[in-house]
Amino acid sequence: MYKNHPNDQPTQADTLKRFKRFAECLAVAGAERGVIYDLPRREYKFVPSVLCDILTQHDGKTVADLKHIYNPQNTPQFNTLIDEYIDFLLQHDYIFWCDEEDLELFPDIDLHWDAPHHITNIIIDIDANSRHDWVSIVEQVQQLNCQHLQIRSFVPQTLSFYDQVLSHFLTSVVRSVEIITAYSPDTAVEAIQQLIQKHLRIRSFIQHTSPQYELQVESENGMGHIAKVTDCIRSANDCHIIDHGYFTVNIQLFTEAQHHHTYYNRKLGIDAQGNIKNCPSLTPSFGNINDPNINLKQIAQTPEFQRLWHIKKDETAICKDCEFRYMCVDSREPYLGNDGLYHHHTPCPYNPYTMTWENDDTNKL
Ligand code: SF4
Repeated sequence: MYKNHPNDQPTQADTLKRFKRFAECLAVAGAERGVIYDLPRREYKFVPSVLCDILTQHDGKTVADLKHIYNPQNTPQFNTLIDEYIDFLLQHDYIFWCDEEDLELFPDIDLHWDAPHHITNIIIDIDANSRHDWVSIVEQVQQLNCQHLQIRSFVPQTLSFYDQVLSHFLTSVVRSVEIITAYSPDTAVEAIQQLIQKHLRIRSFIQHTSPQYELQVESENGMGHIAKVTDCIRSANDCHIIDHGYFTVNIQLFTEAQHHHTYYNRKLGIDAQGNIKNCPSLTPSFGNINDPNINLKQIAQTPEFQRLWHIKKDETAICKDCEFRYMCVDSREPYLGNDGLYHHHTPCPYNPYTMTWENDDTNKL
């Protein structure tokens, strides 16, 4: 019996025990503080940088080792602090005790990322003049094995319009569709629910530019969410929002962020004019969906189209020092600077060096 919880009494054997980090609880250091990503629980917690250091540099050591490393003068208050850190880590199930000979039984998780889809999600924009060939789009989506669609309309649309569009996808590989459409006072929530009952792929139906925010139907199992939001989305450029409310902690995003740009990787956009892009808001176009000879799969396999896919936060100025870099999905287009790092033309509202959000002094998370 050894101390596995801070309230348990330590035994003499405890002093020989090693602390071992649960493999799916990963510490990420920022410029001024760290964050523990609890991947299975999809949560994160802020920790002092020294705690990050303990978890990344000294995993598998004894508490006596830690005290020797961090407190060679053996000052009582520093020893107490280290005990408190260990208690904190135990309390939150970030670590457990382990015998030295068992350490190798608990390897690190594999941070490799891959997906069996040429493209994982597609954004399709619509305005009052859009003339998308939906039959062609469905065929191309099938070839890409793409399972997630986002349809954004900058103008109000009738529900029968979405019914028609989604009818094309009835036997497709698409598993979820997010509809973001301009607010219309004539769209009743009951009618949206009927649409969702008919098209079970609808993950969410959001009306933007609404006079007020309203959560109309909370999603069940992540599907069927209906809401009105006050954000104005009048063009593709209105969608570059970075907010801690959009952070996502899970193993898919964490591993993808080790190798790729988490917004552009395996994404494809079709703008309101039908132009094929990495994202509808970007300028470079790789053809038009209404061209009868277009082949999205071929386009998606070209190095030019994949240029943005491999740019990581770890090689991006400022973001590389941010503790949120493996949970943040940032749609700003990066460019390569003379210093060998990627940069952005617009600043992020979060400053990892002061740990503050722009225009929000109270929001020091
Ligand atoms: S600094 Fe970079 S990683 Fe951090 S919140 Fe902003 S965009 Fe995301």
